Amino acid sequence: MTGRLYGKSVGEVLKIKNDFFEQNGKMLELSAHQADVLLAQPLRKKCKICGCALPDETMYSSQRMEYLVCPECGHVNSRHEDTEAFARAVYLEDPYEHHYSEADREAYLKRMRTIYIPKAEFLLETLEGEGLNKDGIRILDDGAGSGYFVRACQELGLTALGIEISEAQVQFANEMAGTDILKTVPGEEIPAFLSVAEFNVFSFIGVLEHIVNLQEVTEAIRDNENVQYVYLSVPMISLSCVLEAANQDCYNRHAGGTHTHLFTDSSIERMAENMGFTVHRTWKFGSDMMDLFRMLCVKLDEGGNRSMKEYFSPKFLSMIDELQEVVDRHEFASEIHAILKRADLK
Ligand SMILES: [Zn+2]
Repeated sequence: MTGRLYGKSVGEVLKIKNDFFEQNGKMLELSAHQADVLLAQPLRKKCKICGCALPDETMYSSQRMEYLVCPECGHVNSRHEDTEAFARAVYLEDPYEHHYSEADREAYLKRMRTIYIPKAEFLLETLEGEGLNKDGIRILDDGAGSGYFVRACQELGLTALGIEISEAQVQFANEMAGTDILKTVPGEEIPAFLSVAEFNVFSFIGVLEHIVNLQEVTEAIRDNENVQYVYLSVPMISLSCVLEAANQDCYNRHAGGTHTHLFTDSSIERMAENMGFTVHRTWKFGSDMMDLFRMLCVKLDEGGNRSMKEYFSPKFLSMIDELQEVVDRHEFASEIHAILKRADLK
């Protein structure tokens, strides 16, 4: 790796994730349903990243799900497989509704600026460091969701298009933008679309961990020589996993749910290699300390210690960025942003 960055302020992000703090019971129910579905799937025989046979020994278990370490690439895989049936059962699509107020638009812009502009800036800064200028950058964002990252790229003056399997998300993103920034591509057509798309940068922000046919997608990237850089963010085996395993009465934001496998530095390198890429630059900033803070708040509340929670919260929040930065620097953060570069690119 040629560049590593750590840390990011979580203050604003924290305000956006309120449900996790106030709806612990409901979130646990949702998570239990997702675990039921995963546990009904066949056992996973091969590592999601390198295809190596998985061992029997469990690294850890949380919310009834067991996780195994790949002996070859270090990737952490759930014992049960994330199949098409699993995906159909856990990714529920909300119907699209045309009732968006001015307040919704403001909330959208706030989320885009707080969470997605820093990601777009990291990408732009890296590509400019590689000698590209704004006119020479064309970004295709796969799994574009509500279009936040595409909007953030456009806000920085970059050409960006998003593709997304959910029609409702595409309609929502385009309505928020007032123009078509996303297009719908059915899941089974995505590898073929990616293999010929005329973009030099592909982005996958919180997406690869959800893809059932991950190998087809990485092969499509490998085969499309237009693609020079891939920007991804994925969940990591991290302090958040430990906090979740040790506090199973608190909602598991990180492992479980729709995250059935967790990356390591070595499994990301292995995935990059399979694609014909190298890891060029990384930025680690986790939500581990936010998870710790949330779990303490939930438990203080549930134990009748609301006033202690109120006493403790501002003290903890004044330290949270520094605490997280220590976790990030020690390579134990819940999330990584990585920019991969095609290996034969000068
Ligand atoms: Zn592996």
